[in-house]
Amino acid sequence: MRTPALLENYVAGQWVAGTPGTSNGSASTALTDPVTGETLAFVSSAGLDLDAAFTYARETAGPALRALSYGERAQRLSQIVATLQANRDDYYAIATANSGTVATDSAVDIDGAIYTLSTYAKLGAALGDAHTLLDGATVPLAKDGSFTVRHVLRPTPGVALFINAFNFPAWGLWEKAASALLAGVPVIVKPATSTAWLTQRMVADVVAAGILPPGSLSVICGSAAGLLDRIGPFDVVSFTGSADTAATLRAHPAFTQRSARINVEADSLNSAVLLPDAASGTPAFDQFVREVAREMTVKSGQKCTAIRRAMVPVEHFDAAAAAIAERLARTVVGNPRNESVKMGSLVSEAQKRVVLEGIAHLQAEAETLYDGNRDAVFVDAGPHSACLAPVLLGMRDGAAGQRVHETEVFGPVATLVGYRDIDEAVALAKRGQGSLVVSLYSNDAAAMRTPALALADAHGRVHAIDPSVAKTQTGHGNVMPQSLHGGPGRAGGGEELGGLRALRFYHVRSAVQGPAALVEALTQDAVELPKS
Ligand code: NAP
Repeated sequence: MRTPALLENYVAGQWVAGTPGTSNGSASTALTDPVTGETLAFVSSAGLDLDAAFTYARETAGPALRALSYGERAQRLSQIVATLQANRDDYYAIATANSGTVATDSAVDIDGAIYTLSTYAKLGAALGDAHTLLDGATVPLAKDGSFTVRHVLRPTPGVALFINAFNFPAWGLWEKAASALLAGVPVIVKPATSTAWLTQRMVADVVAAGILPPGSLSVICGSAAGLLDRIGPFDVVSFTGSADTAATLRAHPAFTQRSARINVEADSLNSAVLLPDAASGTPAFDQFVREVAREMTVKSGQKCTAIRRAMVPVEHFDAAAAAIAERLARTVVGNPRNESVKMGSLVSEAQKRVVLEGIAHLQAEAETLYDGNRDAVFVDAGPHSACLAPVLLGMRDGAAGQRVHETEVFGPVATLVGYRDIDEAVALAKRGQGSLVVSLYSNDAAAMRTPALALADAHGRVHAIDPSVAKTQTGHGNVMPQSLHGGPGRAGGGEELGGLRALRFYHVRSAVQGPAALVEALTQDAVELPKS
């Protein structure tokens, strides 16, 4: 058996090993296979020269990136796509080992990352030779038009620090880096420790390909200690993870005193709502059932956008419970290396414990409609694997629930929630206090207009489905780069993606006022930021 390696960090344009583990293992952390328990690698960020890392990115990589036009940077994104495509098989092997995911779930992360990057490469190419983005038309400030104002967007002269969640080691990096690098802002990524290997390997491949100016992309694996202390006023931080960690980060002087900007993508109590017309036996009912079961099992429910609350008119409750349970019962759970397995494991035993505690917490108020763990046989997986079968809970009177509207259980778990009328369904969805996504299911597209608009003020995305889009819809939980990702309130208040809208976070907006001739001259080497 090979000896697990200590994965190096890439900072200040160099590969550097963190301080390796001491005899009590305090400085390095093991990455493990959640199915077999095997140790795969170690990571450590101890002993890194973080001042040098940030200074090099800010002062050497940033200017070199910004010397390129938007179109040239878009071309670099295309080259990154080609590099990642060439190493795709290795990424799948790492995901199987370190995340415990079946190939179709690894694809959500890996191919989702590549698709997002290639979308930004295309969108960025349309910005051509520009070095400046214009935000709106010239507006006169004097009656005779001699003195005017135009808003410009310039890339922020700092670093983009990404602190990422464990569930998307590939997509989580590239969905952010695509727009940061296109904007001309160097990236330092700190992946979640438990699944850092895939992020580290992708960075290594892109660095080795020599695509970007040195220092444009750095990776730090292990503890985040000291990173925020280096964040200056022109740096931006993009955090993805739990609301609790987000709250700790937000209180840091980087934001409270130095006014650096932070984007937060946190946890979310997403809903799917079956409209009253969609009774059992109609196509919309089947679409709803299929999507709820799919969302519970894709990546073992470890998706920030997964359906946590499936809302149904109370008269359809029993039919929906039976139909979803019937689908869940077909889910073969176990070692992702076995081809019969449809759902792999959770990311770690520790995470499995957290999910089991979450289920017990919800069971205090909800009935258990289906529990695949009762007679579970996990294929090729021992008793200490992090495998967990799906669990469907239920609350016939959704309005009486408390925990179900407050608790995100980050695993293959959802609660069927009964509602009396559509106004109550809207009110219940909003008890999530702001979510990433809500989906609607009806046989009548127009009937979804009122709830779609009523829910839009509390959700970053509203996904409305009728039978006419059965074959073309992109899925409740799939984050498309063309659509906004993020959500108000509890979901973190962040905004990512949404086509070129994502560039705004990595730019500083300034109102340039002056003689008409100067403001006219601003349009050289500039392009209006497209609306989509
Ligand atoms: P987490 O425990 O909050 O960790 C997220 C990241 O923050 C990790 O890289 C972690 O590093 C780091 N971190 C932890 N404490 C920190 C501190 N005091 N200072 C700086 N960094 C710190 O979340 P997770 O368990 O990885 O992810 C699951 C959660 O993420 C779920 O709630 C899910 O809903 C949410 N999520 C949201 C989205 C979205 O787009 N909205 C996407 C995916 C996941 P270590 O790993 O080294 O501890």
